[in-house]
Amino acid sequence: MKALQASTSYNVGFGISAAAPPPRPSRHRHVILAQVEPTEKSVEIMRKFSEQYARRSGTYFCVEKGVTSVVIKGLAEHKDTLGAPLCPCRHYDDKYAEAQQGFWNCPCVPMRERKECHCMLFLTPDNDFAGQEQAITLEEIKETTANM
Ligand code: SF4
Repeated sequence: MKALQASTSYNVGFGISAAAPPPRPSRHRHVILAQVEPTEKSVEIMRKFSEQYARRSGTYFCVEKGVTSVVIKGLAEHKDTLGAPLCPCRHYDDKYAEAQQGFWNCPCVPMRERKECHCMLFLTPDNDFAGQEQAITLEEIKETTANM
């Protein structure tokens, strides 16, 4: 059984451990510690966005909803603090400049062009960690991140 651990920017870092090789390890798979809890309004906005974009792009949420939840909260935190949903799974020297530039605002250019989401928020069906859902509730987000 594969072990999946969401390290998220949210609190630790984004990491995956699995018996099988993880999907496309990325040197960018790191997240930044969230400084503040995102507002519920922004979490809800990013939750709805994620559901809509998954359906539109034909991608699915991770089989481990905690991964999805952490990324959504990371996006919401950036929306609150930067005014834009900057990808939470990368390190930036200047987050404000990156948010203004837009390349890594969700959905980022790699996702839009090649369906590459290194945060594992949007997974193509062939991904080992793809679940079968394109929906997540606010309650699920709260429950799966309650101890983070
Ligand atoms: Fe980050 Fe891009 Fe995935 Fe959005 S689509 S969570 S910006 S990697």
